[in-house]
Amino acid sequence: MRVIGMISPSWSGSTLWNLILDGLPGVTGVGEDHWIVDHRTFNRPYYCTECRGDPCPIFTPAALEEIADCAGFPGTWWPALAKATGCDTIVTSDKSPHHYERFGLPDICMVPYKDMRAHVASFVVNWLRKNKSIWDKSGTLMEDVNPTDAEVQEGIPWVVGNYNTVLDWAAAKGLPVHAVKLEDLALHPYRTLRATCGALGLPLDFTALDFTARPHHHIGGNFSVRFHHGKDYPTKGVERTYAHQWQEKFKGRIALDDKWKSILTPEQAGAIMQDERVLALETRFRRLRCQEDPFLP
Ligand SMILES: [Zn+2]
Repeated sequence: MRVIGMISPSWSGSTLWNLILDGLPGVTGVGEDHWIVDHRTFNRPYYCTECRGDPCPIFTPAALEEIADCAGFPGTWWPALAKATGCDTIVTSDKSPHHYERFGLPDICMVPYKDMRAHVASFVVNWLRKNKSIWDKSGTLMEDVNPTDAEVQEGIPWVVGNYNTVLDWAAAKGLPVHAVKLEDLALHPYRTLRATCGALGLPLDFTALDFTARPHHHIGGNFSVRFHHGKDYPTKGVERTYAHQWQEKFKGRIALDDKWKSILTPEQAGAIMQDERVLALETRFRRLRCQEDPFLP
């Protein structure tokens, strides 16, 4: 069996990638499977993100217990997930090296990343302004999510530092690493999926890009296909949070994330792109990206 392990900070596009790669033949994207055991510590749900209260054909209570029991025994975690899912290739969006140290190293690392301006904006909205940003029905931002310059300067080292930490870890372990940029997926989905499958040794199937067209079963993640992209999406009686607005924009499709343009000032965006730490990280990413075929759509 093979394990493709994503390594990245939060809000890098890992949930979307997990769902897309889950659509490849013989591959299961299990999501943030560490919650299967960590729910005990952090009191977070560990049921299937898609099935929630309904019976899940993959992550049954018995299967979840069996997997959780493997946590203290390195080398048994991934085979238990392969047994539960019936797939020899496991994609995991656990992201933190801490989890791979506990469960077993992946065969290859995938680093999902995105435009540094978008990632700093994600840090501001999801961390500094968490649960405070609300949009009205016209899409106007009701709460202030626009960061101060000092907050942008706080976000840059958070984003860059977290990426460098996971890249340093993979390098120290001697693991092969493939970096893939979210904007490439949004702008050139076919060639980016082909390049990614080629680099990760996964079977290519372009229908996987239509990730809402098939059922999924995964743990954790920033959204659910069923509840955020499907018929169970709550359209009434819910708080119009920034997250809900995001989900409407991206509902059922892979769209370019340009929210940062309404969050950052042009000066702040420029400062991020000229920051030496950002430039050094971009250089590091470019070395880890595989060649894309320019003739594919
Ligand atoms: Zn399920």
